[in-house]
Amino acid sequence: MTDLEIAKAATLTPIVDIADKAGLKEDQIEMYGKYKAKVNVTGLKNQSIEGHKLVLVTSINPTPAGEGKSTVLVGLGDAMNQLDKQTMIAMREPSMGPVMGIKGGATGGGYSQVIPMEDINLHFTGDMHALTSAHNTLMALVNNYLQHDNALNLDPRRIIWNRVEDVNDRTLRNVITGLGGVTQGIPQESSFDITAASELMAILCLASDLTDLKARIGKIVVGYTHDKVPVSVAELGFEDAITILLKDAFKPNLVQTLAHTPTLIHGGPFANIAHGCNSVIATKTALQLADYTVTEAGFGADLGAEKFLDIKRPVLGKTPDVVVIVATVRALKYNGGQSVKELTTENIDALNAGLPNLQRHMQNIQSFGLPTVVAINRFTSDTDAELNLIKEYCAAQGVTAVITESWGKGGDGTLDLAKEVVQLTTKPANFTSSYEADDTIEAKLNKIVTNIYHGRSVSLTKKAQNQLKTFAKNGWDKLPVCVAKTQYSFSDDAKRLGAPTDFDVEIREFVPKIGAGFIVALAGNVMTMPGLPKQPAALKMKIDAQGEITGLF
Ligand code: ADP
Repeated sequence: MTDLEIAKAATLTPIVDIADKAGLKEDQIEMYGKYKAKVNVTGLKNQSIEGHKLVLVTSINPTPAGEGKSTVLVGLGDAMNQLDKQTMIAMREPSMGPVMGIKGGATGGGYSQVIPMEDINLHFTGDMHALTSAHNTLMALVNNYLQHDNALNLDPRRIIWNRVEDVNDRTLRNVITGLGGVTQGIPQESSFDITAASELMAILCLASDLTDLKARIGKIVVGYTHDKVPVSVAELGFEDAITILLKDAFKPNLVQTLAHTPTLIHGGPFANIAHGCNSVIATKTALQLADYTVTEAGFGADLGAEKFLDIKRPVLGKTPDVVVIVATVRALKYNGGQSVKELTTENIDALNAGLPNLQRHMQNIQSFGLPTVVAINRFTSDTDAELNLIKEYCAAQGVTAVITESWGKGGDGTLDLAKEVVQLTTKPANFTSSYEADDTIEAKLNKIVTNIYHGRSVSLTKKAQNQLKTFAKNGWDKLPVCVAKTQYSFSDDAKRLGAPTDFDVEIREFVPKIGAGFIVALAGNVMTMPGLPKQPAALKMKIDAQGEITGLF
């Protein structure tokens, strides 16, 4: 059966009952139909998270199809509840870019899914659209400001705000707007990003409450004056209007797994071009409500987990008690040089060649001082020889590897992992971040590249070097760094698989995200507006006269 067929065959529990199970009263939720709700978190403000455990699920460097992080995450949440450990899941919202493009949805798979999956993967509760509209409204307001009095003397050539869409559309990467004469605005070179990369998405995911959301929106820098002085949204007076457009999107969404585990799905930044974690407010709500919260960070641990630990953790005020690294036989073989077409064929040599990728991720998580376990997400094509090799390899490194069958068996297939996770949460963690808050941007980058990616060094283009000088003048030179780079490699080159060391990472440009509170460093040729593949997933989707959808995933 396909993921969609399994999801459709499920009997959903009314969301009021799921809310009740999570400890939320009826007046704390706003219904979006019978099976989805938004959570009003104001009543939880003073509820402590003391003693509650946080489990972070991350992975090795993936294949283009994804390695089953969300699948294992959902199976783990269900299995923990089966063990009578009161658990909630906090995860990211899918973007329609990948849904229509290549990877499929973001609601797990097989018997470890969040439902109603077709709603969640398509328009859900409209958060993505609200973010898109809010982002583009700000652009319209800025352009209108330029068209009229422009009292602050904003330079139309130095506008750094752009537009976004929740679609992969490469034709919008570079655009010229304002053509057609005096009344049509000022001609400008501009661009579109995918909504997942919008600064507003990052802000929604990092803000602690509505007041903080507005304050952060006020701090967004939209461009510079003719004298190169940064201009913020607050100086233009637009922060209230933009916050109003996000007031509902800011509330976490409550849904359920196939086994009825309460799940918060909220915020969806990608980990390659943004910070890759669901909202602080959703993770905090889960931590307040449940004894155990399981959450994920996007792509491999070099991207998502590093950003969780260095960007999200300080705002959340909680360090993970355990980190689960999801690995698959096929991704390890891919990292060992086997072609995508051959991944279902046993190949011990390729697996051996790929294992150093896993070893480096384990070593990195250990260097953060966090207890870790490897979840081997089992595929039907995996052979016993391959699975045993991974287990033995991990054991030799002092890490337990547990075979999980979340996809085929749901919580039942994830019980061993859940037991190991629960046991590890009793171990003391001794967290150290990758860099000091006081380090300069360049020092932070150097530490990430040498200690997390294990590359030689960082180099900056002339443009990036000049930007750092401006940032120092503006007092932004100590902000955290969010590296935008390929998810396929530790390096900035998608083809350098495995565990490369002889590479330098070139930062071609920085993007200040002052409201979010970090500086994005664009490495290699990573694009903040992805493209669609030759055979987009959209081609397989069908809908009949009754509105029944098939072929989604
Ligand atoms: P990630 O979160 O790492 O991107 P997902 O959990 O979204 O990965 O899984 C990607 C796709 O792979 C989904 O369509 C899911 O159904 C499928 N999948 C995951 N695990 C397995 C498995 N063990 N066997 C077969 N398919 C799987």
